[in-house]
Amino acid sequence: KSLVKLLREEGAVKSDRVACVMEKLDRALFIAEGERNLAYMDCPMQIGFNATISAPHMHGSCLELLNKHLQPGMHALDVGSGTGYLTAAFALLVGDQGRAVGVEHIPELVEQSIKNVKRSPAASLLEPGVLSLHVGDGRLGWPEHAPYNAIHVGAAAPQVPQPLIDQLKPGGRMVIPVGEGAQELVVIDKGPDGSLKQWTASSVRYVPLTSKDEQLRGGV
Ligand code: SAH
Repeated sequence: KSLVKLLREEGAVKSDRVACVMEKLDRALFIAEGERNLAYMDCPMQIGFNATISAPHMHGSCLELLNKHLQPGMHALDVGSGTGYLTAAFALLVGDQGRAVGVEHIPELVEQSIKNVKRSPAASLLEPGVLSLHVGDGRLGWPEHAPYNAIHVGAAAPQVPQPLIDQLKPGGRMVIPVGEGAQELVVIDKGPDGSLKQWTASSVRYVPLTSKDEQLRGGV
C-alpha cells in the first residue's frame, strides 16, 4: 500500500482503478522468495535469463496509459510477459468476460509466471482461460484471441512489429518501447477507421525484444 501511495505521489499512478489493482497484486508474489524484501523498492529486478521484472512505476504508467482499453470484457495482449505481473493485472481489469494473453519466449519464465499467478488473486482466472500465458515469439503477437483492445510490449523493439499493429483492434491502443540504445515508450492509437496515431510518452530503458538465442547470449 505504501509503494502504491508513493507511485501516486510521483504521478505514475493516477486513477483509483489502477491503484486498486496494484494494491491487490502483491509484487512480492512475482519475485523469487529470497529477494522479496526488495519487492517494494521502485526499481526493476533481475529474474534470470537476462530478463527483469519492470519497476513498479513502469507497471503503473503502462496500466494508466492502457486503462481505458482494459475495461470489462475487453481483450489484452502482454508481449514479453516475464513474471506475469502485468498480464495478471490486465486479467483482473478485463474481468471474467474479457481475455488477457501473455506471450513470453523463455519457457522457464512462462512456467514460473503461471506459478506466480496461481498464488495471486488472479489465480481463479486461469482455469476459465480469461488469463493465459504462452511460450512463443511475441513479435508475432497471439492471433488466436485477436483483435486486442490493448497491447503492451514489455521489451524494446528496434521497430514496431507489423503483426502487433495488425492485431490491434480499431479504437485500441498499443504501448511499446522502441529503439536500440536510446528508447522511447511509444503509444500507438488505432482509430475506428484503422488509421494510426503515434506519440511518445517518455524515455525508457527496457531489455530488448529479440530472439531467444540473442537474449540468452547477451548480458543485461
Ligand atoms: N512486464 C514484464 C517484463 C519482463 S522483461 C515483467 O514486469 O515481468 C521483458 C521480457 O520480454 C523478458 O522476460 C524477455 O524474455 C521477453 N522477451 C524478449 N523478447 C521476446 C520475444 N521476441 N518474444 C517473447 N518474449 C520476449
